[in-house]
Amino acid sequence: MILKLIVAVLLIFPQFALAVNVIDVGGQETGTKTTGQQEILHDVDGDLDIAAAASISERGAFQPLQSAGSTGLKPGAFWSHFALRNVTDEAITLDLEYVDHQLIALEAYTRNLDSSDDYRNIARMSLAESFSERPVVHNRFVVRVTIPARQVKEFLIKFSSHQAGFVFPSMRIWNPDRLREVHTTEVGIIMFLFGGIFLMAIISLVGALATQDRTFLIYAVYALSKIVSWCTILGYTHQFFIKEGFHWNYLSVSGAFGVLAGTVFARAFLQTQKYTPRIDYVLIFMMLNAVFLLFCALFNLTALAVLSITVALLLYPMMSVAGVVRWRQGSTDAAVFALAWSLLVVGLVVQALRDLGLVEHSIMNYYWPAFASFVEMLGIMAAMGIKVRRLRLQKDQAEHRYTEQLEMSKAELEAQVVARTRELEQAKLAAEHEARTDPLTGVYNRRSFFIEAGKRMNLALRKHQPLSIMMFDIDHFKSVNDTFGHSIGDEALRVFSDSVVQNLRDSDVWGRLGGEEFALVLSEDREGTLQTAQRLRQAIGQIVINTPSGELRMTASIGVAYLQSDHNIELLLNKADDALYKAKNQGRDQIVEYSEAL
Ligand code: GH3
Ligand code: MG
Ligand code: MG
Repeated sequence: MILKLIVAVLLIFPQFALAVNVIDVGGQETGTKTTGQQEILHDVDGDLDIAAAASISERGAFQPLQSAGSTGLKPGAFWSHFALRNVTDEAITLDLEYVDHQLIALEAYTRNLDSSDDYRNIARMSLAESFSERPVVHNRFVVRVTIPARQVKEFLIKFSSHQAGFVFPSMRIWNPDRLREVHTTEVGIIMFLFGGIFLMAIISLVGALATQDRTFLIYAVYALSKIVSWCTILGYTHQFFIKEGFHWNYLSVSGAFGVLAGTVFARAFLQTQKYTPRIDYVLIFMMLNAVFLLFCALFNLTALAVLSITVALLLYPMMSVAGVVRWRQGSTDAAVFALAWSLLVVGLVVQALRDLGLVEHSIMNYYWPAFASFVEMLGIMAAMGIKVRRLRLQKDQAEHRYTEQLEMSKAELEAQVVARTRELEQAKLAAEHEARTDPLTGVYNRRSFFIEAGKRMNLALRKHQPLSIMMFDIDHFKSVNDTFGHSIGDEALRVFSDSVVQNLRDSDVWGRLGGEEFALVLSEDREGTLQTAQRLRQAIGQIVINTPSGELRMTASIGVAYLQSDHNIELLLNKADDALYKAKNQGRDQIVEYSEAL
């Protein structure tokens, strides 16, 4: 009875027994319909053959995928079972497109539904295989299937990741023409973005040449590394450049190179070594990790590579932190860097959520990191522009300050030269004056008296004017010194000279010849000369100097000589001296004129 019931139920609901996920297709699909995730098998070692997979599938042991889109990071392979029912009256050809680029290999098998036939292989693709062997030209794996009119075909698809990887065990269903169109557009957009990055790399190289700033050079390398890594990761390197002999670890190698170039650039651009040494240590660690990743990728150390990539991704936000810290320190270009880098980090987080199966796959979370990379490069280019502008302004300001200082110090120097010249002139005048005057009395000394007297005599000879000379010698001056002391003797000499000077005219030449001997040149005839001599003798006689040892008075003897046409100044002075000698001999305090009879 129970057996009969089961048979009846099986007859009424045949799909229960088959448990096949059947998808109706009409041939015009545009990639929105997918093969579904209802029947998925995790082939942990990745070594099940089609017969084994088919028998597990027939036993109904395939399970719906538990996560959203992705299996998460799992080793081995995943199998997907589904059926496509051609609802039209014509045979149709469809393309089944795998949604992601991170898959090492894909195999597809098919058979007629409900047949006891063996599954037949219709596609076998691998990153390691020649690109030209792909049934459909596409950077992702695409399987082409044909379904006769009104028939249902059953499929088993094997998605293989290497040791550990993310698998999206569902495929988009496309009309082949529509897929080709969309693929062309997609490649066009991606190449446009890469072209943009390439252009920025070239501009940056020119910038490096123009500014000699090595940051531009590092940026160019970073930009090129972005192109290489995204091109490789998205499958374009395999599609366009390395069609034969491609290896899946090129993805990790180029990725590691990109991370390394990015960190080197961030350190140079943000000058972390100089301004934020502690963050710089983290960036150095990131660089070493990237080198380690490169090493793992080159030697196929997958588990270590995954660890290294995880560390790299976890540390990625550190770049944004470094940017923000430098921004807070006053660098606007660091703000742009932080913003651009944060966009990339958010993109990577979104993609990580997708890869881990926490968020359903979508065109947005698929392309965000690549697009964010483009925006990041654009942003950093702008930031570098800002930086160059700032540096130029700083340079201009520094030059301006330098010129100002130069002009100021030039003006200062000129003022100093003028002042010094004036000082020197004054010193020269003072020296000349000193050389001319007698230090005790301030009147002409012997040398300049002779010069001035000579000039006056020549003038008088030329103009036939009278000229006379007087020689003064203070009487008994030795006893002045003896009585009052030498310093009062000096004072007496000053007072003596001053009292004569007070009785002279501007044209008279008065000088001290030495000791207590003075001489005077007058432009006077005999009569005027004698009057003057008399006046001077009286003035001297009236000198009284009060000293502690009593009053000091003095007298002087005066010898006079007159200019004749044949005289020179020495001769004239000798004559006056002779007259003076006579005055001394005749008892002092008197005026004696020179005469031949002396
Ligand atoms: P007289 O001329 O009347 O014959 O006697 P006198 O004592 O003046 O003789 P003499 O000309 O020989 O001596 C001049 C003295 O003047 C000698 C010296 O001590 C003094 N004398 C010369 N120069 C200076 C001086 O600069 N300062 C002082 N205090 N004394 C001076
Ligand atoms: Mg004397
Ligand atoms: Mg004397």
